[in-house]
Order: sequence, then structure tokens, then C-alpha cells
Amino acid sequence: MEAQRTLRRPISCVGIGLHSGNKVNLSLKPAAPDTGIRFRRTDMGNFEVPATVHNLAGIQMATALSRDQVSVETVEHLLSALVSMGIDNVVVELNSPEVPIMDGSAAPFIYLIQEAGVKRQQKGRRFLKIVRPIALSRGDKRIAIYPSDHFKVTYSVSYDHPLLRHQSRTLRITEESFIEEIAPARTFTFLKDVEMLRQNGLALGGSLENAVVLGETGVLNALRFEDEFVRHKILDAVGDLALVGYPVIGHLVAHRAGHALHTEFAARILEETQAWRLIEEPLDVAVPAASPATAPARLV
Ligand SMILES: [Zn+2]
Repeated sequence: MEAQRTLRRPISCVGIGLHSGNKVNLSLKPAAPDTGIRFRRTDMGNFEVPATVHNLAGIQMATALSRDQVSVETVEHLLSALVSMGIDNVVVELNSPEVPIMDGSAAPFIYLIQEAGVKRQQKGRRFLKIVRPIALSRGDKRIAIYPSDHFKVTYSVSYDHPLLRHQSRTLRITEESFIEEIAPARTFTFLKDVEMLRQNGLALGGSLENAVVLGETGVLNALRFEDEFVRHKILDAVGDLALVGYPVIGHLVAHRAGHALHTEFAARILEETQAWRLIEEPLDVAVPAASPATAPARLV
């Protein structure tokens, strides 16, 4: 059995909201087993919004949650860091509706989690293991998940832009691979969209400090990876899939998807109860007769 995990101690940081441009205080606090990931608005009487598909709110540029009209926005990069570091239980305190954008990647959140430390708890963790494929498409956007012994993501993007005609990557997501290959990849935007967003009162906190900006022919800031864009899409997909509420074991394959499709798919996975099982061991493999010492995964 693998133990559930929380943080060893509370930790805080300050950043700005991408859309409001306002300063935000963020604290991550240890939580009891089976709490899950919960957002708490300290500016709204400590009202809590659990990070599950049941609290999905309207999706535009980022993933938002809301419950009883209290919302938390731009949750995906933080969720991506938390689940990839194996944090099952945590309370995320915010004094504003927006999770701070930091540098546009998940790396600052990884740093916070590492500084706080990870603590194993006295209760077993459950995994959602995909046993039959599930697929969803909307126009030319597609997403699917297939049975696999590990959590893997294949993502491909194609845009009408010389730098982004096609990028594709497959990665098995582990704590190590996420920290090295995915967490530093920043969000990206097109220069032509920035003015439009600003006119609509959005992206007021956006700058070259927290997003890769694509001009007509090139990028305005230095890239961290040649294919930073598709890596960031993997980061987003992992964060949005966290709303399933369990670590997922399966191979997620997405093409030209975005937050709306990722989160609709997370909800679909939970509805398709014939397509998965909850298990207590990540490797639900048949046990060879010669190794009786290895117990098979137990169904729960
Ligand atoms: Zn993102």
C-alpha cells in the first residue's frame, strides 16, 4: 500500500493574479488524510472550494472552480505541481480569487512544495486505473485515455504560426520527469491577442516575466525548451486532470485540446465508471505464480 501524502509544514508566497494584476497571498497548509486538495478564500470567511470536477466553473483562458458563487481561478499550474509531487491532501489559502501566476510555469510551486517537505500519512492512497479507453472530441480537438501501467501523456499542438506548426511529445509523468521536463515550461500567448485581452480587462498582470509571447515570426523572450509550448500543454492537462480527485493510471492522449476539453474530459472519466477501477497499488499486474511474496493489487 502506498501512503497518502501531505506537506510537512505550511508555506507561503506572494505573487500577482494574471488577469486582475492584483497582489495575492498564497499559503499551502498540511491537511488530514482524505481531505483532498481544497482551496480556501481567506478574504471570504475561509469559504472552501474543493478541487473537483463538481466545482468546475466557466473556463476561458484558464481553469476556474466555484461553489456558492465563491470562485478560485487559474488553478491548473498549482494543481499540476501538487499532483505531480504526489500531494493528496492540502489546503490552499488565497486572499483573492486568482492563484498567483508566478513565472507562468509550475516551477515556483514545485519549489514551495520542496521547501515545505512531503509527509507520508497513516492512510492508504487510491489510484484510478483506466481499464477501457475513453475518448472525447470537439471539432478538431481530441482527447482520450487508454489503459497503461503508468501515467503517461502524449500531447500534440498545431497552430497557424511559423514556430508552432506542429509540436508533439510523450512523457511518462513521475515526480522526477515532471520537475525536469514539464514544470519549468511557461504559459504562452500571441502578441495579437494581448491587446484584445487588455481591452477586455484581462491579462492585466501579464508580462514577459510570466508568459512566452509569440510575435508574428518569433518569440519575444528566450525559450527554456525548444518545444516549451507542447510541454506547457502537458503541464495544463496534468493539472486539469487532477480534478478527477485520484492519481490516474493510464495514457492520456490529447491533440489541440485546451482547458475546456481537458476539464470536460475529467468529468467524463468519472462518469464512465465501467472504464476504470479504484486500486490500492499503482501496478495492478498479474502476479507470476513463482513469486507468491508479491500480493496482487486489491480491489476497493
Ligand atoms: Zn497553463
